Amino acid sequence: MTNQTNLPSFQSKNFTCPSCNELSEQTWLNAYVSQVNNPAGVPLRIEGEGLEQLKQSAQFPPDVLEQKLAYWNKVNSGEVFLDRWAPVQSDILVAGMEISVCNSCSQMAVWLSGEIAYPKTAAEK
Ligand SMILES: [Zn+2]
Repeated sequence: MTNQTNLPSFQSKNFTCPSCNELSEQTWLNAYVSQVNNPAGVPLRIEGEGLEQLKQSAQFPPDVLEQKLAYWNKVNSGEVFLDRWAPVQSDILVAGMEISVCNSCSQMAVWLSGEIAYPKTAAEK
């Protein structure tokens, strides 16, 4: 265990993670996008009454329902995270935005123009 800290840097694969504060190797990802694909044509959120209805739903086995509720609770709390969803094929790259993933805690950081936009630092919260 060291007390060494390396400020998060766009030019590095090893820095102090903004989520777990460990000096960790980071995996860098590009972001490709696909069009929101649901009947309303806007991003899907299940919260409030919709979340209560989901909790009462007999549509899913208990373990699947538990995963769905955990997913929506994370989204609704403002968390940004990676999740497996339906496979998509896209050649539309979000230029100027990258994602780093901490190999220690698996949390992600979103980088815009080379600066961390998420998670917010303690000073920005
Ligand atoms: Zn971490």
